Amino acid sequence: MKTKRSMKERECTICDAFIYRGDQYGQKSVSLGKQASWSIDQRPVEKIPAFAWSDFRVKVDICARCAA
Ligand SMILES: [Zn+2]
Repeated sequence: MKTKRSMKERECTICDAFIYRGDQYGQKSVSLGKQASWSIDQRPVEKIPAFAWSDFRVKVDICARCAA
């Protein structure tokens, strides 16, 4: 995984290690389930067409050791 220099302090999602400013870290995107982007009307969730659903993804921080 490609790593970059951290501009702030953060925590590794995998091993909970502290990532200091200036340390190398990686980012990966994880799926947290589905999210509907349907806002045309107030229809119930089960009536929302399949194409309106997309993966809800967030980026998590990973220390250089876990990224390697
Ligand atoms: Zn780690």
